[in-house]
Amino acid sequence: MRLRISADDFRRFAATLGRSAATTPATTQPEAMNGATPHSVAPPAVAPAPSVSRLPSARTPVGELAAYPPADQWNRWTELDAKAWPERVERTYTLAPTTCFNCESACGLLAYVDVETLRVRKFEGNPAHPGSRGRTCAKGPATLNQVYDPERILYPLKRVGERGEGQWERTTWDEALDTIAARIRKALVEDRKTEVIYHVGRPGEDGYMERVLQSWGVDAHNSHTNICSSGGRFGYAAWMGIDRPSPDYANARFTLLISSHLETGHYFNPHAQRIMEAKKRGAKLAVMDPRLSNTASMADYWLPTYPGSEAAALLAMANILIQEDLYDREFVRKWTNWDQFLRDEHPDVAPTFAEFERILKTLYADYTPEFAEKESGVPAAQIVAVAQEIGRAGSAVAAHNWRAAAAGNLGGWMGAHCLFFLNVLTGSVGTPGGVSPNVYDKFVPRPFAEPPKQQVWNELTWPREYPLSHNELSFLLPHFLKDGRGKADVYFTRVYNPVWTNPDGFAWMEALSDERKVGLHVALTPTWNETAWLADYVLPMGVGAERHDLHSYETYAGQWIGFRQPVVRVAMERLGRPVKYTYEANPGEVWEENEWWIELSWRIDPDGALGIRKYYESPYRPGEKLTVDDYYGWIFEHSVPGLPEAAAREGLTPLGYMRKYGAFEIRAGTAPAYAEPVAPADLAEGSVDDATGLVWSRRPRPHSSNIVPKPAPATGERGVQVGVQVDGVARAGFPTPSGKLEFYSRTLRDWKWPEYALPTYIKSHVHPSVMDPDRGEFALIPTFRLPVLIHTRSNNAKWLTEIAHSNPLWMHPSDAERLGLTSGAEARVNTEIGYFVPRLWITEGIRPGVVACSHHMGRWTLPQHQAHGGWSSALAELDNSANQWRLRQIHGVQPYASDDPDTSRIWWKDAGVHQNLTFPVHPDPVSGSHCWHQKVRVEAALAGDRYGDIAVDSAKAHAVYQEWLGLARAAPGPDGTRRPHWFLRPYRPDPAAYRLLPPSAVSDKV
Ligand code: SF4
Repeated sequence: MRLRISADDFRRFAATLGRSAATTPATTQPEAMNGATPHSVAPPAVAPAPSVSRLPSARTPVGELAAYPPADQWNRWTELDAKAWPERVERTYTLAPTTCFNCESACGLLAYVDVETLRVRKFEGNPAHPGSRGRTCAKGPATLNQVYDPERILYPLKRVGERGEGQWERTTWDEALDTIAARIRKALVEDRKTEVIYHVGRPGEDGYMERVLQSWGVDAHNSHTNICSSGGRFGYAAWMGIDRPSPDYANARFTLLISSHLETGHYFNPHAQRIMEAKKRGAKLAVMDPRLSNTASMADYWLPTYPGSEAAALLAMANILIQEDLYDREFVRKWTNWDQFLRDEHPDVAPTFAEFERILKTLYADYTPEFAEKESGVPAAQIVAVAQEIGRAGSAVAAHNWRAAAAGNLGGWMGAHCLFFLNVLTGSVGTPGGVSPNVYDKFVPRPFAEPPKQQVWNELTWPREYPLSHNELSFLLPHFLKDGRGKADVYFTRVYNPVWTNPDGFAWMEALSDERKVGLHVALTPTWNETAWLADYVLPMGVGAERHDLHSYETYAGQWIGFRQPVVRVAMERLGRPVKYTYEANPGEVWEENEWWIELSWRIDPDGALGIRKYYESPYRPGEKLTVDDYYGWIFEHSVPGLPEAAAREGLTPLGYMRKYGAFEIRAGTAPAYAEPVAPADLAEGSVDDATGLVWSRRPRPHSSNIVPKPAPATGERGVQVGVQVDGVARAGFPTPSGKLEFYSRTLRDWKWPEYALPTYIKSHVHPSVMDPDRGEFALIPTFRLPVLIHTRSNNAKWLTEIAHSNPLWMHPSDAERLGLTSGAEARVNTEIGYFVPRLWITEGIRPGVVACSHHMGRWTLPQHQAHGGWSSALAELDNSANQWRLRQIHGVQPYASDDPDTSRIWWKDAGVHQNLTFPVHPDPVSGSHCWHQKVRVEAALAGDRYGDIAVDSAKAHAVYQEWLGLARAAPGPDGTRRPHWFLRPYRPDPAAYRLLPPSAVSDKV
């Protein structure tokens, strides 16, 4: 029996895992600025990161965690039941590792499964996970709420009556699988391959679904990314081909964030713990955010930039680095395509780096600190101070922009683009404390039997108007259907709720209600949501602790894989109760998705005639149906470097090792792959193009076990582009047409956006010049969330909802005084297409001229649903007449009786206010990202207005869609294709599918 772990026990646990328990880093005082000039200051005194020790499953330090059960006792662990206190009642658990599914960080969890009842008692952090190192945010342990939520769906349901009427009957999995499989098979056989669409919210895995969809030969993938991160991704991809940064926060001397990474941002928990570790060692932190977010409150510099002005402030910092020669000249000379820029734009000057530097000093001279102050509202002196800090930090500048500004503004992608410009200028690319391309720190193991690329191109998701769009134009789908561009005969929504999550949700309701537009809607979801009510089948899938997934994310300087597992299934198998299918261990008849897709694919092609079934046959037992053990066992045996050896050292199979620890670290530390010499075998069969410096090879590409998506290398008469000459040495370089970081983008120039070929500043659609403050006009920021909430999922997590259930409109006191508004009063917020009615929160935590309202609130159910709607939904009535939509709350959250006594203890009433319904779509014409920020007019609530009211004119919404569509510059590109082939594209089709014009129709200059 144990109550707590002693220091000796912890050391024993650490030894079990092979790591040191004594890792507390020394703390040094940050160096004061003291008015030092950027020329004279030395790098700040920052203590080195803690030393790294080798572990079986994780080679990063365990951090400062106090105690954990020793890994050799995870199979059977006894501790006192805290709820039984003061009685000392022992409970025995088996501790099963899995990964959290509440955001994309995939932090490691340990499920405490009671060996007698098979109930999960709690989830804690998994100390063997190298990304999260035993820590979680509030949402990790709240996985327990989702497992035992009284409102979850336990059986497959089929619609009865009209779609959306709210009438359902229980069906069998066999019936659902057969019906859906037959409909997909018919579409494939009749060559209607673009009519099958799979729309995913949180993927939570790498590669599995792409393999499924490619095995069907469809171009069906539709993600949520263009309402999320695609603007930021595009900004990075235009530089380096790779779309995500991987900052090494732990070793940074200076960190600059355009996102709230310490509280809610991308890879929140793994990033936050490393940023704070660096701060403890003396590193500095700056945060650009119009709100005083929790993250900004922890910063050394809060830069409350006006929304959309981030690029102006960043270019002013770049200008200071350039004018004061604070940039890394050698890095810029070696690794940017300055020579292409001179050749194309300044053919009259000598093609020397000295000439480039001379021109560079003129290019950004107008971006003075004073100009930046005028645009952003941030004092020039503060911009200078941060630029000086960045210059002094040199190659250890970590920076990140995820959604935030990049997802808010017309041209928001340029904010991320200009942010990375600072990394390029300081040479902090691939360095300790700098930023790496994410593919250096991500590992997607190759599965067995990969299907060929699809031969079709789906214009419903990749329309020709947006050839450079970083992801699918998913949020325009209802408008495309309305325009008659096609049909979704089988439409899957998977962990996705577009009616509530996307802008212009009423357009989604209109499309999903129309069977001529959406033939069969299948919602794969653990819980009810606003979109599932408009489905034909609602099929309950396991929550994060009830499914298998394999994934890897760039959460620090290193490479790891995490293995999500159905924890009760793991417990049953440890207890000697074999499980064939995960639904045998899950509640009710809840399936896990891996097994669902195997079964569905098998039924689409039962005899193998369509060439699909072979991808679902076991690699170990030819002809027999694939199991999840087969799928992941094969990957762990064949595609993860070092894992078989690590497993053998413990007398385990690779699958057994992953089931025991739940994660494996493949590499720790930075690895600047761009500087690697080209392989001698490639040089032996290669050649160098003297004009471009590009290195080509005719050698067949070697097999890689890491299939992380990358830009496609160019091919031509010389073979495949494999590198670039730098000072006479052939190096791997970057996966771009120039092989270098593209300061100058020929791609943007050639695909009709020459004005954006260099880092520049694009004025947002919410720029102050379009606002009339006297009319109550503001820029509305709707892109932030509260730290404990997470999209649709937190509605079914009682602990999270109890903590946060209100989303008032933030407004600065000076604005409130001018408009005569007071804190707590209701206001009407008018958008282009309607309005919503929140309450006001008057606070100095937001800059004047801007208002903000957090998303992830305002859930609703309708009376016909006859549901309680979870812990945070209001009961609402919905009216629709012609194009006029109105949603009004009948009442807020209420207590009710259920198997969970806590439902009768609900004390809060507020469900928050939904705002996304009142936003029209704003597709950025370059990146394709939805531009979330809104120009709004705020006034006191009118007579008759009620808290939570929403009104929308869907005809106006369609008109705004058409207006923004008019900004786009359509394909074909100069080579007659739909999209630059080298660009990343999720789930890339065959090159032939890219072609819009035959080669004979293309100008011969290309
Ligand atoms: S940061 Fe929180 S929500 Fe995200 S994976 Fe980690 S524990 Fe889960």
